[in-house]
Amino acid sequence: MAPSDSHGHVLFNQVLNSNDRARAQTQGGGATSGNSKEKRFLCMFCNKGFRYPQKVEIHQRIHTGEKPFSCNQCHMRFAQAGTLKRHQRVHTGEKPFSCTHTHCGKRFSERLYLRTHQQKNHSTLYHRK
Ligand SMILES: [Zn+2]
Ligand SMILES: [Zn+2]
Ligand SMILES: [Zn+2]
Repeated sequence: MAPSDSHGHVLFNQVLNSNDRARAQTQGGGATSGNSKEKRFLCMFCNKGFRYPQKVEIHQRIHTGEKPFSCNQCHMRFAQAGTLKRHQRVHTGEKPFSCTHTHCGKRFSERLYLRTHQQKNHSTLYHRK
């Protein structure tokens, strides 16, 4: 006989019940409807959700390898219009990203290049010699 054990069990159940009640309240009834920003168009390859069918189509090209956008100045092809546009900076020489360090002022065509430059040249973490 261990009466303290059964008492503890009852307490445990009460805690569980109150937790359930709190969860139901924060979920507002628990129904899945009413979410206006629902992403109901799913990628058939990775199940990523999108709000518009066009977005799924464009996203799925990263899985299918389809590249409908071709550069008119070289033979490279791209899956997304934005990627092509970014690529074409190598032809136009456009460099929208400039180093914020006053005595540097180097310019880069891609944010990643700028960040790499700043890490290599202006960060103590990457300071060499
Ligand atoms: Zn996907
Ligand atoms: Zn090109
Ligand atoms: Zn710099």
